[in-house]
Amino acid sequence: MVEQSNSDSFSIPPEIPLSKKQIEALVQAWLKDGELSDMPVDKPPILEDKRNPKYCVFHKKIGHSTPGCYAVRKKYHYKVSKGEVIQKQLTYTNPFPNHGKGGQVVTCVAMENEIKEVALKFQAI
Ligand SMILES: [Zn+2]
Repeated sequence: MVEQSNSDSFSIPPEIPLSKKQIEALVQAWLKDGELSDMPVDKPPILEDKRNPKYCVFHKKIGHSTPGCYAVRKKYHYKVSKGEVIQKQLTYTNPFPNHGKGGQVVTCVAMENEIKEVALKFQAI
């Protein structure tokens, strides 16, 4: 276990590897489940506020975006560390472009000294 010093609590939590919409949906779900407490607001946000790119769904005000919210990031990474949120791998499982039905894909894996030879073969295709 790594012991955290006081200075660590002020460090910037890493970004959440999800889209803004996914993060906002997560925050809404946590607010609904009571995982996050509703933040008291001076005035309820209007639709125009919510459309502002610097609107935070958690703090319910303009200042920073939801993905940029340190409180949300901290909560997310805490839940990931507890195994309550499975961090999605955002890379595609299939690295090849989808050419649809009947499409063709040419794949090439070559050792360094064979590259020249393979390149010549590709030119012939
Ligand atoms: Zn916030």
